[in-house]
Amino acid sequence: MRRRIVAGNWKMNGSKDLVQQLVGPVREQAGRLDNGAKVVIIPPALYVSAVQAEAGDDLATGVQNVSQWQSGAYTGEVSADMARDMGCGYVLVGHSERRQLFGETDETVAAKVEQVLQSGLTAVLCVGETLEQREAGDAERVVATQVIRGLARVEGESWSQVVVAYEPVWAIGTGRTATAEDAQAMHAEIRNVLSSMKAPAESISVLYGGSVKADNAAALFSEPDIDGGLIGGASLKADEFISICRAF
Ligand code: PGA
Repeated sequence: MRRRIVAGNWKMNGSKDLVQQLVGPVREQAGRLDNGAKVVIIPPALYVSAVQAEAGDDLATGVQNVSQWQSGAYTGEVSADMARDMGCGYVLVGHSERRQLFGETDETVAAKVEQVLQSGLTAVLCVGETLEQREAGDAERVVATQVIRGLARVEGESWSQVVVAYEPVWAIGTGRTATAEDAQAMHAEIRNVLSSMKAPAESISVLYGGSVKADNAAALFSEPDIDGGLIGGASLKADEFISICRAF
């Protein structure tokens, strides 16, 4: 069976106060889940330690980005080795905001995935088409290319450290979610692409992200190829995030 994962991507939001209010209640409920879901909190890197201090063993933590290098004269960067050193288990790579606002290409994404895997962490490769690409009938090709190029350096055992998150750009932070059927169709396609890369496609978790809320999570998570969610806005509210964690 594939790992079920619900990961909260705080983006550049949060504060010490939010950590205090949110992490304790989420930890308590995560410890009581009977659906096997792994709950991950991915705050801005500066807050990882504060989150971990409240998280106990029931919550994992991650970072939203790492450098494509492991150490050295790269002012402002944080490496995958550092994320591991500080007890993180997960790293988002290639989020659409990184691609669109910070110029990340499939090549830098592939280099980052490689560093994350070498550090022994799980890489969550984010992929997704824009509205323009979807309307042009290009969504599947765009997503397939991002998967193939982003995971080009993965081989052998390290596939077990790979998670894919399908996040249509037009659904992120817009309140507009892909229908469960459309998301399922793309997830099945991503699994086909992974198979064609000789990856163990049936055991790789594929998460959906893009305006997941308490009231649409159950429909999404009931689809056979949707193994959980990458949650932005709704991960900043304890009650809503907990409801999503329970939605399998
Ligand atoms: P959203 O963001 O849930 O606020 O749409 C998801 C994401 O970007 O990971």
